[in-house]
Amino acid sequence: MDITSKIRKIATRLLQNGEVDLFMAWEKGDLPFQSKPFFARRVEDVERIIFDEYSIHNLSNALLKFRDRQEKIGLVVKGCDSRGVVRLLEDGQIKRDRLYIVGVCCPGMKDPLQAMRDYSGFNRNLEAAPLAAKCENCIQPNPVIYDELLGEEQPPRVQGERFARVRELEQLSPDERYRFFEDILSRCIRCYACRQACVACNCRTCIFDETKPQWVGRETSISDNMMYHLVRASHMAGRCIECGECERVCPVNIPLMLINQKLIKDVDNFFGPYEAGMQYVEGAKPPLSVYQENDPDDFI
Ligand code: SF4
Ligand code: SF4
Ligand code: SF4
Repeated sequence: MDITSKIRKIATRLLQNGEVDLFMAWEKGDLPFQSKPFFARRVEDVERIIFDEYSIHNLSNALLKFRDRQEKIGLVVKGCDSRGVVRLLEDGQIKRDRLYIVGVCCPGMKDPLQAMRDYSGFNRNLEAAPLAAKCENCIQPNPVIYDELLGEEQPPRVQGERFARVRELEQLSPDERYRFFEDILSRCIRCYACRQACVACNCRTCIFDETKPQWVGRETSISDNMMYHLVRASHMAGRCIECGECERVCPVNIPLMLINQKLIKDVDNFFGPYEAGMQYVEGAKPPLSVYQENDPDDFI
């Protein structure tokens, strides 16, 4: 039985028995590479569920829509989604007993954007779509938290040195680094897609939406853009689960994972060994969310 059929069988059982009120997975979009999140609420909905090479959205983020409600929720998680679930549990955004988690060992997802490009024009060739960038660097394709597990365990996919691009940046002088970030962040149109797609961006009121006081200007000037990215980066330190969704959804192709990976590397270095969202231990707090007197501070 393929993964889609197995997921449908589990979803049917859970909905029929009233064990969950809704079941989150993916459904086909209008085009073959447009698979999208889907919430089944009735057994009749289950036949729309699929799991294919474009089930790339991190579903854990969708749990935030239900944080103030009571429904029991079934959901399918790949490795990255499961780390997002741990993020939400650690952040107290949702309770474990409201979730029924179906883990799928993830073979890697194709890049929907490249597939769309390949689909246009005369020589349509969907087979050629490469692995998505976030999957090429995946260290955890297997779910870290689940009630049932499907599929064959997968090896980590990252090849070569994980932080190679970060190390290259670290070699630059401070002025060169500033110019690099000035250049890439000047492209930002402040659409906030990166924030919306991020499971770790789960504040109820975001500082960038506040108007009284307005903490950060809303222009797409370089200073306002830098302030946005600096504040978001500091909020991600120790919390980013490296799902790559922010970079994937950015409409102007800003390499946001460079910033996130720098933070991941530094948090691991200063406060680790630590990788965010790798296991759920009730009551555990990520580094930087607690203070100890002997914390290193000579970098400040
Ligand atoms: S980042 Fe890893 S777990 Fe997530 S879709 Fe890619 S390969 Fe799968
Ligand atoms: S900052 Fe990006 S990579 Fe990190 S958790 Fe948020 S969306 Fe995922
Ligand atoms: S998604 Fe890209 S353009 Fe939009 S706010 Fe984030 S970095 Fe800027």
